[in-house]
Amino acid sequence: MNIILFGPPGAGKGTQAQFIVKKYNYFQLSTGNLLRNEVKLNTVLGSEIDKLISNGEFVSDEIVNNLLKQSITNLKYRDRIIFDGYPRNVDQAINLELILKEFNQTIDHTIFLNVSRDIIEKRIMGRMTCEKCNMALNEYFNKEEINLHPCGPEHLKKRKDDDIEIVIARYDTYMTATKPVLDFYIKNSNFTEIDGAAEIDQINSKINHILNV
Ligand code: AMP
Repeated sequence: MNIILFGPPGAGKGTQAQFIVKKYNYFQLSTGNLLRNEVKLNTVLGSEIDKLISNGEFVSDEIVNNLLKQSITNLKYRDRIIFDGYPRNVDQAINLELILKEFNQTIDHTIFLNVSRDIIEKRIMGRMTCEKCNMALNEYFNKEEINLHPCGPEHLKKRKDDDIEIVIARYDTYMTATKPVLDFYIKNSNFTEIDGAAEIDQINSKINHILNV
């Protein structure tokens, strides 16, 4: 079973993906994480990617599609992938269909976490991400968990692109480029919309229900 977690930046896709990874032993294919790993390698490509991410712009389809394909074709992850942050435009949605078809795989659930822009701004401005395990916590809502984080609180860092102006740019890009992807999936019987403004646990139990039926 493969799953797409869809929604604006800050909707909670990464947080929910990590619950699924732990409970069902899935693989979180976050294109944002793959790109940030590339940046850490300090290559020419990495610095090109860094500039785009820092401005809240999309990285080219060519670069993202290449990284994505490497994970989809990895047999270890076969039929256990959670797509987080991909597809982000209609061309990527078409590309995903083609690659999955080529490798005899399908999307079994598309889950849309719907959240308004004002809630997203509050969530993203407090977000702290662990540079080791990628866990996302919020400095306003999870003070205790940050202090007790197993990798050490010093590894929880603010992302460079979690800055108010960049967040607004990312949300605008989502509305123009990514929201149309909904039309691509909404007609499918395996599409579900969830109120992403609800509590994390409530969203998690709705997702568990979808995955268990
Ligand atoms: P995320 O971690 O999903 O919030 O992504 C962080 C940033 O990485 C985005 O703002 C984009 O600059 C870039 N990015 C992630 N996924 C994609 C994608 N599918 N297509 C283009 N750019 C992406």
